[in-house]
Amino acid sequence: LLDVQGLTVNFSTKEGIHYVLKNVDFNINKGEIVGLIGESGSGKSTLAMTILDINSRSREMSGNISFSGEKIDNIKKEKMRQLRGKRIGFVPQSSMNALNPLVKIKSQFFESIKAHTNMSREEMLSLTTRSLEMVGITPSRMNSCPYEFSGGQRQRIMIALSMLLSPELIIADEPTTALDATVQLKIIELLKNVVQQKQTSMLVISHDLHTISKICDRIYIMYAGRIVETGTRDEILNNPVHPYTQKLLASRL
Ligand code: ATP
Ligand code: MG
Repeated sequence: LLDVQGLTVNFSTKEGIHYVLKNVDFNINKGEIVGLIGESGSGKSTLAMTILDINSRSREMSGNISFSGEKIDNIKKEKMRQLRGKRIGFVPQSSMNALNPLVKIKSQFFESIKAHTNMSREEMLSLTTRSLEMVGITPSRMNSCPYEFSGGQRQRIMIALSMLLSPELIIADEPTTALDATVQLKIIELLKNVVQQKQTSMLVISHDLHTISKICDRIYIMYAGRIVETGTRDEILNNPVHPYTQKLLASRL
């Protein structure tokens, strides 16, 4: 479904050129839940944002990215906007949450639907209701604004928004990091349920191997901008090869 080959990304900063991703090969098959694990600063969000062509200023890339057999690096901004939201859903890292805190949930959902379809008001209302129900948010609260919800609820709303138009792939960047441990588990399980229900594929990014591995079919380990190890969930958990992965597993509290 998604195929990344030889991806190298650098940023030009005042201090010089900073290589963040180095020759990354990466793929997601249809129906798979794939985890991308790595420590802070290893390049995980950069990989997600390069795939989605977000914040591309000062970023230079080489390599190939294809989605559903079609090359998507270097496509026009407008075409990428169509792809994003409709065919690829994104749950951004919580600190840069894509929800506008002061705009009603309903308006934000309607806006996203209008950008990609020409549904009637009733259809938009029914789709929004169903999406919120799916993530356990009372639909009548669609008239509230994101600031009126807790962090965990906002994360649920963000998941509903990313799934709204039944994309083929969801990219979730640290979907649980800012939440307490019990809520983390709930969100992870929710993600797994909605993805399975909708037969979507998912890339889930985290620095927490233990939490994320519960729902992943396959895992990539990233270290300092390189993929250092990949395998099925069981291979990674039972037989880690790279010292960084071994360290990660040993760090279980
Ligand atoms: P975290 O777990 O903390 O979210 P991450 O693995 O997602 O970390 P990235 O956000 O991808 O890490 O950042 C990787 C590196 O790229 C960091 O050293 C960061 O400073 C650098 N970087 C990211 N975006 C830019 C940018 N726009 N300009 C310059 N450097 C950047
Ligand atoms: Mg990140």
